[in-house]
Amino acid sequence: MKKHNFSAGPAILPASVMEQASKAALDFNGIGLSILEISHRSPEFSAVLDEAEILVRDIANLSDDYAVLFLQGGASSQFFMTAMNLLDDNEMAAYADTGSWSAKAIKEARNFGKVEVVASSKEQNYTFIPKGYEVPANAKYFHLTSNNTIFGTQYHSFPETKVPLVADMSSDIFSRPIDIERFGLIYAGAQKNIGPAGLTLVIVRKDALGKVNRTIPTMLDYRTHVSKKSTFNTPPVFAIYVAMLTFRWIKAGGGLEAMARKNAAKAQLIYKEIDDNPLFTGTVTSKEDRSQMNATFVMAPGKEELQATFLDMCKEAGCVGVKGHRSVGGFRASMYNAMDIESVQVLVDVMKAFSERYG
Ligand SMILES: *Cc1c(COP(=O)(O)O)cnc(C)c1O
Repeated sequence: MKKHNFSAGPAILPASVMEQASKAALDFNGIGLSILEISHRSPEFSAVLDEAEILVRDIANLSDDYAVLFLQGGASSQFFMTAMNLLDDNEMAAYADTGSWSAKAIKEARNFGKVEVVASSKEQNYTFIPKGYEVPANAKYFHLTSNNTIFGTQYHSFPETKVPLVADMSSDIFSRPIDIERFGLIYAGAQKNIGPAGLTLVIVRKDALGKVNRTIPTMLDYRTHVSKKSTFNTPPVFAIYVAMLTFRWIKAGGGLEAMARKNAAKAQLIYKEIDDNPLFTGTVTSKEDRSQMNATFVMAPGKEELQATFLDMCKEAGCVGVKGHRSVGGFRASMYNAMDIESVQVLVDVMKAFSERYG
């Protein structure tokens, strides 16, 4: 039976990408060696790395002001690397607290400078994206989490600021066009929308670097990876290869405009069912902030005992990964780029059948 993978991350990848990746694991481009066993300095891998960078530049419409880095350590390492590289001890950075990942970024940044939380939805369990706040002009940057994977909220526009944005885009990178000029730095763990875990994509304005006074360990200094083109040490070769294949797939599929259209259609389909179905309730209080990547919902009040039954029905229909994050409960349908609308329709049909049987 076909599986419909609604996992939040590691998550669904395009089938064609996984097919090519498995072939390359046995014999890469007919060279008689696996992609897993060739040098990261071989001409074959250099070509992969070059193409990956060119594709990112093309997809995100990057100028030469920006560097594209393929790093390790996950988005979680970026929580401290961003502040370590961009914020001096006596400077202040503004942060929005819109979920667990934002909170972790704030905690790490405090080790390197002053942090002002200028917007937060924490008191309401992160059920909306805060609006109507000022980002102080003396902030070094404004950090936000563009999509809150756990709580199912997403910025559909970014606040006007006088300072550059720094964004954790782990769970919605390349799901829609990016107004890149507004960003000083963007980071994303690969395992939600790009490729396998073990790779972290960073896009950084080169002129933002080299402005802090502290000593930065070589591996944690973005300038190392800019000057060595992500091969100061051994990069995650296979993960970069798979990401490159995904970038090709995004480009061939019409780029970010096309991804955005497809993602909007999927989101509309599931949220309509969440709103119409009497057995379910969405967890995001302001509908305009609902995530197009992760739809979070719970059983309607009084129906909580049916939760396990619904998950069983999902499983029977091949829908996996629908259980919500432990801090929110209920359900979460993650619908990253690689998910087709047909899979969302399967889940919606399960929701309909469930309410016919138990409503
Ligand atoms: C998954 C996720 C992270 C954590 O990523 P790691 O690569 O596991 O460190 C951080 N931020 C967001 C928004 C995420 O979705």
